[in-house]
Amino acid sequence: MFFNFMKNGVVFSTALDDNFLEVLSGEMPFKNEVVAIKLHMGEPRNRNHLKAEEVKRFVDLLKRMGCKPFLFDTTVSYAGKRNSVEGYFEVAAVNGFTDAFMECPIVIGDEEHEAVKGRLEYRVAKKLCGVSVLVLTHVKGHPCSGIGAAIKNLGMGAMTKKTKSEIHEGGKPVYVGGCEVCGVCVENCPIGVMKLDEDEKRPKPSLTDCLGCSNCTIVCPRGALKPRVAAFDFLLAEAAKAAISKFKKVYFVNFLQRMTRFCDCFDEPLEPVIADIGILAGGDILAVEKATHDLIVKKEGRDVFKELNKKSFREQLKAAEQVFLGKRNDGET
Ligand code: SF4
Ligand code: SF4
Repeated sequence: MFFNFMKNGVVFSTALDDNFLEVLSGEMPFKNEVVAIKLHMGEPRNRNHLKAEEVKRFVDLLKRMGCKPFLFDTTVSYAGKRNSVEGYFEVAAVNGFTDAFMECPIVIGDEEHEAVKGRLEYRVAKKLCGVSVLVLTHVKGHPCSGIGAAIKNLGMGAMTKKTKSEIHEGGKPVYVGGCEVCGVCVENCPIGVMKLDEDEKRPKPSLTDCLGCSNCTIVCPRGALKPRVAAFDFLLAEAAKAAISKFKKVYFVNFLQRMTRFCDCFDEPLEPVIADIGILAGGDILAVEKATHDLIVKKEGRDVFKELNKKSFREQLKAAEQVFLGKRNDGET
């Protein structure tokens, strides 16, 4: 194992072994308290999510620290088994996440929440409010943010369905005039739903299929497109900040392993697009996210997820800095 202390309290290890867990027991701020482990328990056919065995090691570690852990995630806003609490439990069990194996409760949140005002009203899952939270995140590509990591795990995953939908809706484009039909927005739509109307000389996205990633509004050189409420990255970062404001204490662990082009919500077998890097951990979400991006770019020699998904994770880091989520490092972490 290679192990390293980085800037801003971020620690890195190439492996989830006893030595690294021992270091984390000294780094994590939890002691003799209830700790929610916020994670995504995957879909049945996508095998790249966090493994039950990996998560169990954190359950055991927290218990050795005198804590009472429970696993937590929320139902999703799109169609599928994880749309309901019962369906999510079924999927979790298929992926090995059972009370019996984890030896701790598994809780799925639905609409119960506490609200935090911002550009939207962010509905934070009630079970996370007032308790300490260990945020375990599988890092992978994402069509809306280039990379989906800890900000996504909280900004979307700690919210109720209503807020999840409102974030996607709020990032959708509105045409404000001035289009020169250059085609840049079409080239940079991650899912190919932006079209141009050559007769009307203006963009015409399919708003039903649009994910609200806001990339077209970011890349348009004429400022001809604006997001309905605010850029997706801003809303996601603000939602993550709203969630953190409700936690007692928080710590983040990002797994840079089995990294696929798309996220763990895709219920299909996806192959990793880059080699495993290791695990990053720290108490400052932005420092951990920045280190995640830096390591991927350094290892690959290029912004590989921007190439694949047409959107750079840098937009997410900029937005997170804007909403004062944490520190942003200058230069590499
Ligand atoms: S990027 Fe802007 S100017 Fe170019 S086609 Fe799209 S909306 Fe028009
Ligand atoms: S918001 Fe994203 S998905 Fe929607 S049209 Fe623009 S680039 Fe495409």
